Amino acid sequence: MATFKDFRNDIKPNWCPGCGDFAVQAAIQRAAANIGIEPENFAIVSGIGCSGRISGYINAYGFHGIHGRALPIAQGLKMANRELTVLAAGGDGDGFAIGTNHTIHSIRRNIDITYVVMDNQIYGLTKGQTSPRSAFGTKTKSTPKGSIEPSIRPLELAISAGAGFVAQGFSGDLAQLTKIIEEGMKHKGFAFINVFSPCVTFNKVNTYEWFKENIINLDNDPDFDSSNRSLAVQKVMEHDGLVTGIIYKDSERESYENLVPNFKQTPLIKQDMSLSREDFTSF
Ligand code: SF4
Ligand code: MG
Repeated sequence: MATFKDFRNDIKPNWCPGCGDFAVQAAIQRAAANIGIEPENFAIVSGIGCSGRISGYINAYGFHGIHGRALPIAQGLKMANRELTVLAAGGDGDGFAIGTNHTIHSIRRNIDITYVVMDNQIYGLTKGQTSPRSAFGTKTKSTPKGSIEPSIRPLELAISAGAGFVAQGFSGDLAQLTKIIEEGMKHKGFAFINVFSPCVTFNKVNTYEWFKENIINLDNDPDFDSSNRSLAVQKVMEHDGLVTGIIYKDSERESYENLVPNFKQTPLIKQDMSLSREDFTSF
């Protein structure tokens, strides 16, 4: 059985030392080993941004897609070969700017893939502009007098779009992040995971220290129940989105592929492709 070391390759990441994306890479490698898959059964599709490089740094099938389009590629891959474990990854620009529509509709559609957003609340690859996740008032080269737009709210967005699995992790807590990604990969449906992944070079506000002071870990809240949708939204709003853990989980929701009769039998790639219209309309 593969260990996390089997998911390593010999490519040295060129992220800045201390970048939060290193922990996300390690967490994905550990989670993949923990759920017992082999590198040849694992595919990672990424978008554009510093985080997009992750698909090249893990020993698995990798596809570095175009900006904001990791999700359509990942969904197509899963529909063609549902024996693969498919993970899409990207940054906050990728998921909440150019790719927002794909994020919303992928959640709504519920194909069985995992989506990890490395949320550093800035555009890192293009050297530090305001992103849709930057807080109101954020000063960068693109908003020198402070952003007058509020940040998008990923957790509320995912829950209201109908997500069956919503979680948030932090690169400063590898154990929790690994567990979250592991649970997301095991979840039978679309798993949305936002990760506070600090950009140590361009975001001097949302640092590791800042997150450590401000995050509430819901794993430590005995009264929290992640199967309660209203409570999940309430907790997220109460703490202004600064919560970690599995926020909401609905294990009953059927994945998209399970609602298509022929997909239950065999992956599309192995079918004779003679599906009739009735195959898709009989449920
Ligand atoms: Fe990471 Fe920021 Fe460096 Fe990009 S610029 S590699 S996000 S620390
Ligand atoms: Mg970013």
